[in-house]
Amino acid sequence: MSDCIFCKIATHEIPTEALWEDDDVIAFRDLQPKYPVHLLVISKAHIPSAAALEEAHDTVIGKVFRVGAELAKQQGLGEKGFRLLTNSGPDSGQEVHHLHVHVLGGERLHPL
Ligand code: 5GP
Ligand code: ZN
Repeated sequence: MSDCIFCKIATHEIPTEALWEDDDVIAFRDLQPKYPVHLLVISKAHIPSAAALEEAHDTVIGKVFRVGAELAKQQGLGEKGFRLLTNSGPDSGQEVHHLHVHVLGGERLHPL
């Protein structure tokens, strides 16, 4: 989508240091981190949110979560733990309407 900031990151129109990249997903640091570790993993394809997921996305969404977990472990969170989280829709506070998983950790997270 032409006006989507995460599509622009996915195509490198906006230069961003990638922590992981392959044909399907790209991961990078959140611009305004809310935790000591705050990364984002996105699908390269424009999927607006979890609410828009279809069966055809099963593989890519699995990869988004696996890459999120691998990066969390790379950041040293394997033992202490981390949270993978995706917001979907207005009540969740979703700001960017391109599917992304937050990788959060580095301190004790509030219980849900
Ligand atoms: P949401 O609220 O949609 O789940 O989360 C969007 C996240 O994207 C926020 O944590 C925000 O800080 C981050 N973000 C928004 N724009 C950019 C950007 O241009 N670059 C990066 N790296 N992160 C961004
Ligand atoms: Zn997009």
